Amino acid sequence: MKAVAVLPGKPSSVHLRDIPKPRLTDQPHPHVCLIPEGRAVLVRVLQVGVDATDREINEALYGNPPPGGEHLVIGHESFGEVVEVGERVMEVRPGDLVSCTVRRPGGSLHDKIGRNDLTSEEVYYERGINLCHGFLTEYFVDDAEYIVKVPPGLRHLGVLSEPASVCAKAIEQAFLAQQRLQVWHPRRAFVFGAGQIGLLATMMLRLRGLEVYTLATRPAPNRKAEIAEAYGATYVSTRQMPLADLAKRVGRPDLIFEATGDAEQCFRAMEVLAINGALIWTSITGGTHALSLDAAKINLEWVLGNKLLVSSVNGNRRHFELGLQALAHGELSYPGVTQRLLTHPVAGLDAYREMMGLLEEKGALKVFVSVAG
Ligand code: BGC
Ligand code: ZN
Repeated sequence: MKAVAVLPGKPSSVHLRDIPKPRLTDQPHPHVCLIPEGRAVLVRVLQVGVDATDREINEALYGNPPPGGEHLVIGHESFGEVVEVGERVMEVRPGDLVSCTVRRPGGSLHDKIGRNDLTSEEVYYERGINLCHGFLTEYFVDDAEYIVKVPPGLRHLGVLSEPASVCAKAIEQAFLAQQRLQVWHPRRAFVFGAGQIGLLATMMLRLRGLEVYTLATRPAPNRKAEIAEAYGATYVSTRQMPLADLAKRVGRPDLIFEATGDAEQCFRAMEVLAINGALIWTSITGGTHALSLDAAKINLEWVLGNKLLVSSVNGNRRHFELGLQALAHGELSYPGVTQRLLTHPVAGLDAYREMMGLLEEKGALKVFVSVAG
């Protein structure tokens, strides 16, 4: 069967290759964990989303093949249909729509208690990213433990399961951490970035009743602004209204969700957060980026204001479920809005070059490959 792969360490090595179709009895990543007897699920891939991580893996900024091989099948945002299940699988059955989590457990205590998203080990095992093959292929097998059911009514948004899990986790982490305050009712949020993560975070924060400002560089009108506004948020072009001016005008935010991918913005966010506020960092910033800022002022304000920084990456199956609940709630509250994120479908695995090319385009909100169906 076909698969889209890279040769990690070699820039622009994305290619199509032929790999064996997996059987239910196969072990997809025996170097990390084994599927217990009877617990395997075989999935036919319907759609796979790609993001900046895939682009950067192709740029050889990170990513490693499974041990003993040279290639890595990429793709970590899965959506498919169950074809076959082992005799001990009760959770899903053939015909069910599913997504699959990305990270597999290493050896730390967090990995052992099902919180591999919080592994305390340096090395992490992620399908399609690091040391485990991904989903940009026709079929995959994994442990039922990592397979998450997607409601049939969310079929049109199923490919957003993984990005939604990342947002849902990050927001939950901030609310959990803010329990330190005993009382915290955030009113105003700034979301930095209006890519898929920024817009999904906008939706999730609106669903929690916050007044949300979604910040991006490009002035409206544009699709990102339309989506943010359709979620009931205010879209702000930082070219027209710099961050400091916005904070002065509407007040400092109690919560900031940073998702620009730009390291400078992560720190600029620190300059405007309100007292007792929480700043969430989700950007994964490759390369280096030096910056000059007033560290004394930030430190002073942060200490005197009891401010909190929460970093968040990845999502485990519970976060996938939370993300899917949010997508469903969002669909009822803002019907038809979220599907506007799905801007760039790519037809079939053969179009892998087009897929990579689209990841360079500024206006491409969500690039995804329709593998089947
Ligand atoms: C993925 C996460 C993953 C992270 C780090 C992101 O693009 O969505 O699941 O943990 O990259 O590799
Ligand atoms: Zn991703």
